[in-house]
Amino acid sequence: MIIDLRSDTVTKPTNAMLKAMFNAEVGDDVFAEEPTVIALEQKSAKLFGKEAAVFCPSGTMTNQIAIKVHTNPGDEVLCDSTAHIYNYEGGGIAFNSGVQAKLIQGERGRISAQQVLESMNPTFDWLTKTSLVSIENTANRAGGSFYSLKQMQEVSEVCKKNKLNYHLDGARIFNAIVEAGYSAAEVGKCFDSISICLSKGLGAPVGSLLLGETEFVRKARRVRKVFGGGMRQAGYLAAAGIYALDHNISRLKEDHKRAKQLATTMGGLSYIDNVLPVDTNIIIFNLNDKINPETFVQKLADNNIKAVGFGKQAIRFVTHLDFTDEMLEKTEKVLKGI
Ligand SMILES: *Cc1c(COP(=O)(O)O)cnc(C)c1O
Repeated sequence: MIIDLRSDTVTKPTNAMLKAMFNAEVGDDVFAEEPTVIALEQKSAKLFGKEAAVFCPSGTMTNQIAIKVHTNPGDEVLCDSTAHIYNYEGGGIAFNSGVQAKLIQGERGRISAQQVLESMNPTFDWLTKTSLVSIENTANRAGGSFYSLKQMQEVSEVCKKNKLNYHLDGARIFNAIVEAGYSAAEVGKCFDSISICLSKGLGAPVGSLLLGETEFVRKARRVRKVFGGGMRQAGYLAAAGIYALDHNISRLKEDHKRAKQLATTMGGLSYIDNVLPVDTNIIIFNLNDKINPETFVQKLADNNIKAVGFGKQAIRFVTHLDFTDEMLEKTEKVLKGI
C-alpha cells in the first residue's frame, strides 16, 4: 500500500469513471462538434449560473487565459502574495499577458475589500492601470482556508464600483462549497470569471474549466487556441469530468474529516512545532529544529508514505479521494513512531 499525501492531483480514475470515459461519445472540439465536451461545459456553466464555459487541459491555462482576456499589456492584477497565479504558474502573468502583479498581504491567503480599495490605483496616465482582482478559494499555499460568501461579495462590490474585473481561481472551490455551505450559483454571481479544476479533489485525470458570460468565453476560446489548448476528441476526458461533478463533490467532506483528524494527532507529536489550522483538505505543519525535513520525508518514504517539503521546516499533506481510513490509520501509526 502506497500512501500519497503530496497532492490531491495524484488520484487515479476509478473503474466507474473509466467506464464513463470508455463510453463517451466524441467529435472534434476545434470544429465545435465534441458532444461530451459541450455537455461538460454547459453543465459546469449552469452549476455556477454562468452563460458559458471552455474546457482546458489545466488550471494554469484557465487562469492564464482569464488574465489575458481581462487585461492589456502594462496593466496590473491584484492578488494575495501566496497566490498560485503569481507563484506557481511560471511567471505566466508577465510572460503571457505582459501584466504585473501587485501583491496583497492577506489573512491566510484571503484578501479583503478594504485591501483591494487601498491597493488599486487611481486612473492617472502615469500610474499602472489596475484592471483585475484575482482571489483563490480555497487558498492553497495558505493551507486550504476558504472565503465566506460575504467576503467574496464585498470584494465583488468594490470591483463593480471601480470597473475592475474579478476572477476566481477555484481550483478547489468545491472544497470551499461543501465546507462553507454556500452554493455554486451564489459563488458564480460574484465573479466575472471562474476557473475550476476537475483533476484535484474531484478525482478526474485531467481538465479544468473557465466559466463566464458568452462574450468573455468567446474571447477565452480564441486565447485557448493561441496558447495551444485546442483539443480534438477531448470527450474522453470531459466524460471523466462529468462523472466527477456527478459523484465526487459531496464526498469531499470525508477528505476534510480525515485531514482534521490527522492534524489533531500531529498536534501532539514532540517533533512537530505547530500545525496550521485545517479548514479543508490541506495540512501544513512545521517541524521543530530537532528533525530536518529531508530526514522526515525519507522516514515517511521508508514506510511507503509520499510527502514533500513546503519550504524551510514546513511540510504539506493533502488528503484526497485515494486516501482511505485504512491509510489514515497507518499514517498516524507511522507518524507516532518517528
Ligand atoms: C492546482 C492549482 C491550479 C492549477 O494547476 P494545474 O496543475 O495547472 O491544473 C491553480 N490554482 C491553484 C490554487 C491550484 O492549487
